[in-house]
Amino acid sequence: APPRQPHEQPAPDLSHLGRIVAVASGKGGVGKSTVAANLAVALAQSGLRVGLLDCDIYGPSVPTLLGAKARASGQQGRIEPLEAHGLKLLSIANLTPPDQAVIWRGPMAAAAMMQMLTDGDWGTLDVMILDMPPGTGDIQLSLAQKVKPAGAVIVSTPQDLALIDAEKAIAMFAKVDVPVLGLIENMSTFVCPHCGERSDIFGHGGAKETSAARRIPFLGAVPLTMALRAASDAGTPAVYSDGEAGDALRQAAAALRE
Ligand code: ADP
Repeated sequence: APPRQPHEQPAPDLSHLGRIVAVASGKGGVGKSTVAANLAVALAQSGLRVGLLDCDIYGPSVPTLLGAKARASGQQGRIEPLEAHGLKLLSIANLTPPDQAVIWRGPMAAAAMMQMLTDGDWGTLDVMILDMPPGTGDIQLSLAQKVKPAGAVIVSTPQDLALIDAEKAIAMFAKVDVPVLGLIENMSTFVCPHCGERSDIFGHGGAKETSAARRIPFLGAVPLTMALRAASDAGTPAVYSDGEAGDALRQAAAALRE
């Protein structure tokens, strides 16, 4: 069935989903989905019942990041989330044929997200992580308003360009009274896989300064590494690895538990 129009939807009861945390970014390509997927897996590894909803209709990447590309099954209007790495997940990519582009307008996209949240058989969860679409447009705003997450985590690179947009995401959540739980700096320092030399490709320390200026917690810096990129492409989250990136992601997840 096509997604319902938003005005047909009553305010849904989402209490069985536990604490809903939105992982957001001001712009695309900063590693938001990678961070969201890894935080979700780390929380599941620590014993929580975790759901992960890929809210990016136009560029869904969670199924690739977690190696869960199968079609979701369902009956009578219910959708069965996929299980991977100890958590439950759903993405539009699990519902549409791989060769079909989704070309819905904004309200339709937001409605499809709400439908995955409300019609998904998530069971009872402790935490639901929303991998938000990048940016601060009306889909993001409407999701934030309808779902009312308990908090948001902002992902940014250290680059000024990304940080300017991260500030917009912070402002958007403030506007809808969703507390920002913290900022994660991704692609922080490049660690050369050959010689181990560190290079600050996108600059250094910017996200820490932004968190200090905005008085929001700094949840850590995840380096830019070949290992993390390879792990993401292979569908094996970096939180399983011992490296610096895995450590940073596990620590950020632990901070979210508190
Ligand atoms: P976004 O959700 O912000 O658009 P993604 O999480 O899809 O970004 O990441 C974009 C690309 O960058 C992916 O191919 C991912 O594997 C890679 N990537 C993300 N973070 C890192 C990192 N810290 N080190 C190496 N590659 C990364």
